[in-house]
Amino acid sequence: MTSVSEADIAHLFHPYTNLARHPETGPMVITHGEGVRVFDEAGKDYIEGLAGLWCTALGWGEERLVAAAAEQMRKLPFYHLFTAKTHEPATRLAEQLAGLAPVADAKVLFACSGSESNDTAIKLIWYRNNALGKPDKKKIIARERAYHGVTIATASLTGLPVNQRGFDLPIDRILHTGNPHYWRCGQAGETEEQFASRRAEELEQLILAEGPDTVAAFFAEPVMGAGGVIVPPATYFAKIQAVLKKYDVLLVADEVITGFGRTGQMFGSQTFGLQPDLMTVAKGLSSGYLPISALIVAGHVYEPIKAQAGEIGSFGHGFTYGGHPVSAAVALETLKIYAERDILGHVGRIGPVLQRGLRALQQHPLVGEARGIGLIGAVELVADKDRRTAFDPKLAIGARVVAKAQAHGVILRAMGDAIAFAPPLIISEADIDEMLGRFRLALDEAH
Ligand code: PLP
Repeated sequence: MTSVSEADIAHLFHPYTNLARHPETGPMVITHGEGVRVFDEAGKDYIEGLAGLWCTALGWGEERLVAAAAEQMRKLPFYHLFTAKTHEPATRLAEQLAGLAPVADAKVLFACSGSESNDTAIKLIWYRNNALGKPDKKKIIARERAYHGVTIATASLTGLPVNQRGFDLPIDRILHTGNPHYWRCGQAGETEEQFASRRAEELEQLILAEGPDTVAAFFAEPVMGAGGVIVPPATYFAKIQAVLKKYDVLLVADEVITGFGRTGQMFGSQTFGLQPDLMTVAKGLSSGYLPISALIVAGHVYEPIKAQAGEIGSFGHGFTYGGHPVSAAVALETLKIYAERDILGHVGRIGPVLQRGLRALQQHPLVGEARGIGLIGAVELVADKDRRTAFDPKLAIGARVVAKAQAHGVILRAMGDAIAFAPPLIISEADIDEMLGRFRLALDEAH
């Protein structure tokens, strides 16, 4: 029998991987996990500094989630929600999400991934504007460095070149505006407040240039994740929302990473004062144990859709596995554990420990900026600290530091030269210290 590595190289088509180099470098085989740590084939342990892909909030080996899945699998392993069929796990989960999310008169539409929920949001917005007799109001604005997924429409929304180059993307009707990264994009002499105002003015200019009657929605992650953990200035979203309201442009909050405590409150929208018309969640919803995502839609968005679907005869959208009963049961148990263990309180206590540790790294010669909030953060590596000069991309400094950190037993992810931290929300102070200590060794070696 071939080894796992051999079979992987022979047959597994890897996402987000340098496919040309993969046959030589091979895979990293993870066998199991426990708490905030995962283990490789050789038994070496790693602190998972990114909670897998920003998702495993409760860490590995949470037996209650295993039990919830097993129980639901025995009872009703599959049923769907088409043609008004329903089951208790999806219904109760919808009820809970509608109660938790800062979205008025919410209705919840389930899918299996963040990409699917964001893609569905675009479809609903288009469907709604057709229903309202505004067939030209269809353009969607996202931000440079945004990450909203990889379907044809959401990869077009995503503002990262790697997701579009070679794929014939973006599709039309998708626009981008500047991101709220003050340290990188602020102009000489500009305060953070002035920078936030400038971003809002740029958005207004874009809407006016395109024609307000053609612009339907604005997508935003409260904290941009895959774009390099970009925390907006305090007043940014208030200014942006004033522009959106003025031109009747809907706000979609992509809470796929920031949902369920990551920024210290239940949703990033609450931390940064967003009042979204639609919200998407995934990842932390089930602590990553099973695929499930949700699109939470305000009543005023739902009503015209309901009327239109009534006329057509049926709402022509839905995924076979959307609201899967086993995923929904695991999500319900996840939400129960968040409440019982006061995960928000824990993030409130432990988040500052991570943030202080990251800010301390700013003394390091390679670190230009350390940033973050709650249990999400990043350090951005620079060639020249004073001038904030980026490294030559060919050096792939971020990837090199991440590889060194991995050798020291901590798994992180480089977004260009920004290295992201988003550990499981259950992480302890001792594990944060250990993670940052191991990371500092990697930085010293790369210097
Ligand atoms: N939105 C955000 C903010 C994300 O970070 C991600 C994935 O990382 C997605 C959407 C896409 O989610 P998925 O990979 O589940 O399709």
